[in-house]
Amino acid sequence: MIRIESEPWAAMVAHARQAYPDECCGAMLGSAGDGAKTVRAAMPLENAFEGPRATRYELRPQDLMAADRAARERGLELIGIYHSHPDCEAYFSQTDLKNSCPWYSFVVLSIQEGRFDHANSWLPNAEQTEAAKEELIY
Ligand SMILES: [Zn+2]
Repeated sequence: MIRIESEPWAAMVAHARQAYPDECCGAMLGSAGDGAKTVRAAMPLENAFEGPRATRYELRPQDLMAADRAARERGLELIGIYHSHPDCEAYFSQTDLKNSCPWYSFVVLSIQEGRFDHANSWLPNAEQTEAAKEELIY
């Protein structure tokens, strides 16, 4: 289960709407324990994909490292990555799976015609062959 507090949630939706019709991406900082994760801060990161960014995102490893550092400085952990799917369902694509890693939660926000529609959280397995849906509360 992953719960996103209202402030980071508002920031994630605003970021996704701003980036529309491109995909946005960012880091989720928070705490994890007892099988429950809480997102306390969202950190927008640049979509560094060099091709059409409406259908794909790419995170720079150094941006992810900076997010990890920022989390530690606040006594938090980097617990997940979020990105948006413009005019598309909040599913976890094969590309998403390939670029994932099993120790993070991956929240996908569906933005339809510039407005937030729905969101899902995904947990990839260690082999990155499939992702299970994680209960998401926001
Ligand atoms: Zn995706």
